[in-house]
Amino acid sequence: MIDLSDFDPLSKTYMSIASDKLEIIRQQVQYHLDHEALRHMDPAREEALREQVKASLVRENAVLVAHYYTAPAIQSLAEETGGCVSDSLEMARFGHDHPAQTLVVAGVKFMGETAKILTPEKRVLMPTLEATCSLDLGCPADEFSAFCDEHPERQVVVYANTSAAVKARADWVVTSSIALDVAEFLADQGQKIIWAPDRHLGDYVRRQTGADILIWDGACIVHEEFKARGIADLKRVYPDAAVLAHPESPASVLELADRVGSTTQIIRAAMEMENHQFIVATDQGIFYKLQQQAPDKEFIIAPTAGNGAACRSCANCPWMAMNDLEALAGVFERGDNEIFVEPQVGERAMVPLRRMLDFAAGMRLQVKGNA
Ligand code: SF4
Repeated sequence: MIDLSDFDPLSKTYMSIASDKLEIIRQQVQYHLDHEALRHMDPAREEALREQVKASLVRENAVLVAHYYTAPAIQSLAEETGGCVSDSLEMARFGHDHPAQTLVVAGVKFMGETAKILTPEKRVLMPTLEATCSLDLGCPADEFSAFCDEHPERQVVVYANTSAAVKARADWVVTSSIALDVAEFLADQGQKIIWAPDRHLGDYVRRQTGADILIWDGACIVHEEFKARGIADLKRVYPDAAVLAHPESPASVLELADRVGSTTQIIRAAMEMENHQFIVATDQGIFYKLQQQAPDKEFIIAPTAGNGAACRSCANCPWMAMNDLEALAGVFERGDNEIFVEPQVGERAMVPLRRMLDFAAGMRLQVKGNA
């Protein structure tokens, strides 16, 4: 459950989100709170919904691709039906390469859009189009474009968590797993950068690479809530635990981390590191994969609760949680949940996306060549 006690609508971060968007956020958080009960559904009902999803996927020649932050029930269904569970980039890649003509994307809207941009000839459906992201909401395309126009000398680098229209305005799209490499590459070429929309990730990239970066003021409402003080307290209880943190978390949290990385990098770190206990600062949906990949290790969610809060941690994205079994089971029956991207916007957004994919492919070749 989201703890709203620390939510300060006048904070700098939220100032950049228009008030109508804030209202949407409030309504969506309320939706999530109202639908908490769905997570504790009757086992017979759950089984019936799972069978319904499996039958529809076969009937519709569709494949389910799910993000690490979705509920365990959704992730296990993706695995059981031959789909994939991964980060946003791999979801899009998998959907592109899979022979199915319909992609069911369980995640948030920008993930469905990215899948559609990479594979425009396929039908892309989502359990609900209301599942969005505070980073996407906090970076409206028109405002961002005007900001870029003020700094024409800078390369525009945007995070995957943005709308198709924002991607279409960018020179580069990056995911958290490749952000440092792209920034380093550009800095080596003497390029200055505009970074959007996550200010914590932008700040981390700037500190790590020394690149000249102008940062848009957006944030993830989940990662921003992790508290360094709570993690330090937890370290006293679990002194041998390693701290794994996603770079959308505040700098004070990253300073305490033994490893900072994307969702995939966090899972890999948990498998490779010798520690048996881990304090994890990212959405708790990732625990399904962590426990699956490292079954003999213990994972503890990093605290998000501030002073006086009633809960200890609420690292759970309300929009990811909208991808529940009920919504997924009805995905083919509804007529309002297909992703469309205007062809012109899609073609323009494909340019920075392709640039990232080619860069990533080049890096892999380089790593192979060095091995
Ligand atoms: S966890 Fe944060 S970055 Fe991810 S979808 Fe939710 S709000 Fe966006």
